[in-house]
Amino acid sequence: MTQGVVTRFPPSPTGYLHLGGARTALFNWLFARKHKGKFILRIEDTDRERSTEEYARDIIESLKWLGIDWDEGPYFQSQRFHIYQGYIERLLEAGNAYYCYCTQEELERKRQEAMERGLKPKYDLTCREKDLPEKAGAVVRLKSPLSGVTTFRDLVRGVITVPNEELDDLVLRRSDGTPTYHLAVVADDIELGVTHIIRGDDHLNNTPRQIAIYRALGLQIPHYAHVPMILGPDKKRLSKRHGATSVMAYKEMGYLPMALLNGLVRIGWSYGDQEKFTLPELIEKFSLEGIGKSPGVFNQEKILDLNGVYIRESDEEYLLKELIPFLEEIGIRDIEREGLIKAIRTLKPRSKTLREMAEGCRMYFERPFVHDRELLKRFLTPEVISILHRLRERLSAQKSWDIQGLEDCFKGFLDEGKIKLKVIAQPLRVILTNRTASPGLFEVMEVLGKDETLRRIDISLLGEGI
Ligand code: GLU
Repeated sequence: MTQGVVTRFPPSPTGYLHLGGARTALFNWLFARKHKGKFILRIEDTDRERSTEEYARDIIESLKWLGIDWDEGPYFQSQRFHIYQGYIERLLEAGNAYYCYCTQEELERKRQEAMERGLKPKYDLTCREKDLPEKAGAVVRLKSPLSGVTTFRDLVRGVITVPNEELDDLVLRRSDGTPTYHLAVVADDIELGVTHIIRGDDHLNNTPRQIAIYRALGLQIPHYAHVPMILGPDKKRLSKRHGATSVMAYKEMGYLPMALLNGLVRIGWSYGDQEKFTLPELIEKFSLEGIGKSPGVFNQEKILDLNGVYIRESDEEYLLKELIPFLEEIGIRDIEREGLIKAIRTLKPRSKTLREMAEGCRMYFERPFVHDRELLKRFLTPEVISILHRLRERLSAQKSWDIQGLEDCFKGFLDEGKIKLKVIAQPLRVILTNRTASPGLFEVMEVLGKDETLRRIDISLLGEGI
């Protein structure tokens, strides 16, 4: 089975790529990569009313951002109608499909009647054996098996058996000539040589119907793996109530793609207790057997924490590249690279998202830097002010402006004056950052540089009466 694996991700562009879709794409991608096979992207845009180019673009961008690449495609179903027509003709010629003239009104009336009699609504086979010729407005239906069962082995759920009575003579081509979802999916999966169909279990009902098309064409069915859906922490189907659900929303909130990928893969798939995987590790360890039968639970808090871990472990160069759009958004631009790298180093341990990190950069780079006078007043006692004046002298004579140098300088100053660090630390923090919580004082001073540090001390003392 390891030879010649072909998987696909076939989203309908009727909405932004959401977490469930991204996870399905990821599973298909991992499976293909693991088996050195092919992964295909196909945009199922046959529903012209609900599909938009914007959604298709979003799906493509989201996959790219996540690092899920494809070997073929994107194919667009809307450009492949001639292929579907070929399959419909093949089925008609083999006598496994037929024209049906029943009108919508007739079908609706029969549906109502069946419901009133407590029966499952189903096409009553009026045209099945009539061998009707083609006619404008006729639909094409599949001759589904009427008795027996359809059985297949699902790679997640095990053996599944459905009585064929439950299948309908489903429509393959609508009266306007367009192919239906079932026909197009099967035709494409055959055309593209798809060997494994990994998809959400909301498609489980479709599978016996699609198998009927394969059988009518005399072809072997592919392998199926139906993945349980994603639930929110309240065990209800994942929706906006549980937090952001589109992939791009995570990008905008400042998540790193690897954090989201790891969060996603772990919903429904596990490998012992391991929480974090590199891509090569995921490819090596991923297996369909590792997918659980029960729905996976999505927890945004957990992914947020994971993002914090990834930020902490990423190198500054990478973070800088990812951070720039967030900085620009809040008007911080044209900052010299070295300074930014230093700033990132101080903010890494305390930022769970890139957005938070960009916010953290404000204290270093936002200009003009304006003190919060109310806050300052609380810290600038006469004693502190007098110490600050002396400290400012000392700092202006300081040569090596790095953490070690500053630490030594402070130690000398405090020892000589018998001053405790805590007397001065918090006021100085407020002077330099406008905040009561920040990275370490010496780190902050290093990022600000000597001139800016002295300038902030000076302006804080202006108007304080000394
Ligand atoms: N286009 C379908 C969807 O977005 C997927 C079809 C399939 O996986 O077979 O749900």
